[in-house]
Amino acid sequence: MLKAIEKPQVQTSGTDYYQLDELLTEEHRQIRESVKSWVDEKLLPIIEDFAQKSECPTHLIPEMGELGIFGCFLPEEYGCSGVDYISYGLIMQEIERGDSGIRSMASVQSSLVMYPIFAYGTDEQKKRFLPKLATGEWMGCFGLTEADFGSNPAGMLTNFTDDGDHVILNGSKMWISNSPFAQMAVVWAKNNDGRIQGILVERGMEGFTTPEIHNKWSLRASSTGELVFDNVRVPKTNVLPGILGLKGPLSCLDSARYGIAWGAVGSAIACYETALKYSLERIQFDKPIASFQLIQKKLAEMITEITKAQLMNMRLGQLRNEGRATTAQISMAKRNNVDMALTIARDARQILGGMGIVGDFPIMRHMMNLESVVTYEGTHDIHLLITGMDITGIPSFR
Ligand SMILES: Cc1cc2nc3c(=O)[nH]c(=O)nc-3n(C[C@H](O)[C@H](O)[C@H](O)COP(=O)(O)OP(=O)(O)OC[C@H]3O[C@@H](n4cnc5c(N)ncnc54)[C@H](O)[C@@H]3O)c2cc1C
Repeated sequence: MLKAIEKPQVQTSGTDYYQLDELLTEEHRQIRESVKSWVDEKLLPIIEDFAQKSECPTHLIPEMGELGIFGCFLPEEYGCSGVDYISYGLIMQEIERGDSGIRSMASVQSSLVMYPIFAYGTDEQKKRFLPKLATGEWMGCFGLTEADFGSNPAGMLTNFTDDGDHVILNGSKMWISNSPFAQMAVVWAKNNDGRIQGILVERGMEGFTTPEIHNKWSLRASSTGELVFDNVRVPKTNVLPGILGLKGPLSCLDSARYGIAWGAVGSAIACYETALKYSLERIQFDKPIASFQLIQKKLAEMITEITKAQLMNMRLGQLRNEGRATTAQISMAKRNNVDMALTIARDARQILGGMGIVGDFPIMRHMMNLESVVTYEGTHDIHLLITGMDITGIPSFR
C-alpha cells in the first residue's frame, strides 16, 4: 500500500507556479511526497550509472511494489492501492523526474499489463495474476507492436489457432519494454476470424523467447526486447475473454498515455530545475549567466510551458476520475507534454553549455529518453492526426 510519510508537504520547489497544490487532496500530497522521497533516496543516486551501463535496475522492483506503485489505481482486493487517477499521475510524474525508463517499466506494468487483466480478464485470471504483479514478484510486458506494424497495429500478423483446451500462438512482437525479464506478456494477436484478442503468455511456455534489443541510445535503464512465438501452446484459460478487436489494446494505451502526460512533466521539472540552478551559479562575463536576457527567456518559457502542462494534466485527471476523459483528450496531453519536455531538455542542455552533455547532470539522459517517449505509445505526428480526426471527423492516417 502507498504509505504516507512524515515530511513537510511541499511541491517540488519553484515549479508550482499556479499553486496547483491547493487543488490536491491531503492524500494526493502524501502519495506524491512518499514517491518523491523514494526517487530522491533510491533512484537518483544510482540511475546515471545504470543508464551509462545500459542496465535496468531491477533490484528496485520489490521496493516499488512495496510502495504500492504497480496498478495503484486498481482495487485493494487484488493487493493494489485503489487510489485515483490524479494520484497515478503524480506517481508517474515523480518517477519520471528520476528517469523515463523507470517510469516506462512502472507504467507498462500498471496500465498495459494489470489494467487489461483487470478490465477484460476472468475472476480466476485476476486472482491469479494481479496480486503477484502488484508486489512486483512478477513483472509483465505488453506486446502490440510488430516489426512491420508500428503506427498501424491493426495490420499485425501474430495469430493463434484453436487446439482443444489450448490455442497455438505464432508470430513476433518488436520494441517491447520489460520483455527480457518479464515473467509474463499480455500479447495481442489475431484469432481465426482475424479479430484481435489478448493472450497471457508465461515465461517457460515452450516456443516462447524474449531476445533483448541492444545498442539503444535512449531509455538505456529500461530493458527492451522482442517477443517470439513459435507454435506456443497457451491454455485457453489464459485468453482474455472480455474484449475483441483493436479497442482492447487501445483502451490500455489510453491509461498508459495518460501516465506519460504526467510523467513528461517530471522530466521537464528535472531539466528546468537543473538549468535554473546552474544558470545562477555559472559566471561568465563576471555575472551569473542567469542575468542574461537570452538565458532568462529560455527559463521563463520553460516554467510557462511546465505550468500549462500541469494545468492540462490536472483537468485531464479530474475527467479521468469521472470516467469522462476521451482518447483524443489524452492524446493531446501526451503529445503536448512530451514535446514540451523534449524542448525544455534541449534548451536546458544549451544553458549548461559543455557541462550539459556529461552524466554529472541528468539533462542529456532525460533528453535521450524523451526521444523514445515522443515515439512510443503513438508517435508525435499520429497524436496530432488523432486531434485532427477528432475535430474534423475525418481520419487522415488511413
Ligand atoms: C524504447 C521503446 C519501447 C517501446 N515499448 C513498447 C511496448 O512495450 N509495447 C509495444 O507494443 N510497443 C512498444 N514500442 C513501440 C512503439 O509504440 C512504436 O515504435 C511506435 O508505435 C511507432 O511505430 P514504429 O516505430 O514502427 O514507427 P512507424 O509506424 O514506422 O512510423 C515511422 C514514422 O512514420 C510516421 N507515420 C506513420 N504512419 C503515418 C501516417 N499515417 N501519417 C503520417 N505519418 C505517419 C510516424 O509518425 C513516424 O514518424 C516501443 C518503442 C520504443 C522505441
